[in-house]
Amino acid sequence: MAGGQTGVAELFAQAARHAAAFRAELPKRVQRPQQTYAQALATFDAPTPEAGTEAQVVLEDLVARATPGLHAMAGPRFFGWVIGNSHPMGVAADFLTSAWGQNAGNHTACPAGAACETVASRWLLDLLDLPREASVGLVTGATIANFVGLAAARSELLRRLGWDVEADGLFGAPPITVLIGEEAHITVFAALQFLGLGRARVTRIPVDGHGAMLPDAFADAMRTAEADPAVIVITQAGQINTGAFDPHEAITRAARKHKNVWVHVDGAFGLWARACPTRAALAKGVELADSWATDGHKWLQTPYDCGFAIVRDAEAHRRAMTIAASYLPPVAVGERDPSHFVPELSRRARGFAAWAMLRHLGRDGVAAMVERHCRYAAMLASLLRDEKGIAILNDVVLNQVIVRFGADLKPEAGDAATAETIAAIQREGSCFAGGAQWQGRTVMRLSVISGSMCENDVLRSAEAMIKAWRGVYAAA
Ligand SMILES: *Cc1c(COP(=O)(O)O)cnc(C)c1O
Repeated sequence: MAGGQTGVAELFAQAARHAAAFRAELPKRVQRPQQTYAQALATFDAPTPEAGTEAQVVLEDLVARATPGLHAMAGPRFFGWVIGNSHPMGVAADFLTSAWGQNAGNHTACPAGAACETVASRWLLDLLDLPREASVGLVTGATIANFVGLAAARSELLRRLGWDVEADGLFGAPPITVLIGEEAHITVFAALQFLGLGRARVTRIPVDGHGAMLPDAFADAMRTAEADPAVIVITQAGQINTGAFDPHEAITRAARKHKNVWVHVDGAFGLWARACPTRAALAKGVELADSWATDGHKWLQTPYDCGFAIVRDAEAHRRAMTIAASYLPPVAVGERDPSHFVPELSRRARGFAAWAMLRHLGRDGVAAMVERHCRYAAMLASLLRDEKGIAILNDVVLNQVIVRFGADLKPEAGDAATAETIAAIQREGSCFAGGAQWQGRTVMRLSVISGSMCENDVLRSAEAMIKAWRGVYAAA
């Protein structure tokens, strides 16, 4: 077994060689998994190992078995979902994070992990231009960041009404009204579900054609909720399909008329528009909210997983998340225990990769990347739109593009043509894009967010998409 120092060095070098080879191969690789789940399962399937196996052998075997079932998510022509490219800088910091083996739950046990988070958090608030006094919890992603922000909201609104939800739970508590846009991300509903606020027990606010809340409809809902004891308003900065932003200034202005209100923003990727001077106006008024959720593993390109839960009222944040135990060291004034801002106690030192990415890109690098992606999205939309039968269904304000094939066909035929074209694009494999449902119709959703994408990738991908569509069109 690789127990000795040479063994460890060789094992780590072996892993690094495989990692580098994978990344080098990635742009040339077919941009989809070469196995289905069932095939991958068959590749891994084996009885429970009774005897151990030498580490270097296990590693070779892992690489051989995993590789066919990997997806080129970190590749330069990946447009599926909203996935950053696990930038090599972040990956290298993340290797070390694992190798250092730190439990970053508290600052006494791992001073560097906590300090790194503190500084990365400060940088983040500066780049996103959010209140500098806000507290930041480094979590697994925007789902949990939404959960944390809404937990702080629940805690603070009820505390103001004389109710300690952390101690006494929700049974018998004053009710909380939740207002949320009709096209909010599913994970926000999941967060409401985890918090006992209920995913169906909400008022859904009508939206415009891009999924942004209608300010008048919102103001009406606020008036209806006027006498309610507590109101949580959930907005969105960057709709998953269109990239649209809720009208934050109008919403916050209407919301603040209520005396016990909390505004939470889901900005998993869209919040990063604030780091880009040419796009920041889209997210104007976002800073007026009380809490924000965003991701590191989307636009910041950190490896999975990394999200940020940001709360203006640090005390409410901490109250909602603190795990009190006699054996945990106390925190002095000016010190920061990472676990006080997240649901977990034992946790990965996510600050190292986040710090490394922020430092590597810098303010200029982040701004240039966001701008580049938005420009590529517009370019892609314009190339596709020029082809007969292809329509772009959204105003491309950010990095998201909704594409419809067979735009001049009957709705059902257009659904079929779109699904067939997506399948043809995936089969061809020089880029990857997936389908989605938008306003009751099948569409292809493109998310331009890979840190390694360059203009040539955009041109090549547009060409492949158009070619796939022509094939489907000719066969119809
Ligand atoms: C991706 C996304 C989420 C969920 O984030 P995870 O990182 O997957 O947990 C929430 N909201 C929006 C708008 C998103 O794009």
